[in-house]
Amino acid sequence: MPAYDFRCRTCDAAFEVTRSISDDSVASCPQGHTDTSRVFTPVAVGGTASAPAPAGGCCGGGCCG
Ligand SMILES: [Zn+2]
Repeated sequence: MPAYDFRCRTCDAAFEVTRSISDDSVASCPQGHTDTSRVFTPVAVGGTASAPAPAGGCCGGGCCG
């Protein structure tokens, strides 16, 4: 089950809730406040990742079919 980051607007606490992806109900903060909003943390994309592409040599050599 995925975990979501929430932030409480009442006490400004950040907390994490693990719930079903289809569960869109209100998450209450550890203090019990229900005025919370989900925080969308951007997934690390791009950057300077430069993993070398695997060189051909398997399927080109007739070893897999
Ligand atoms: Zn709170």
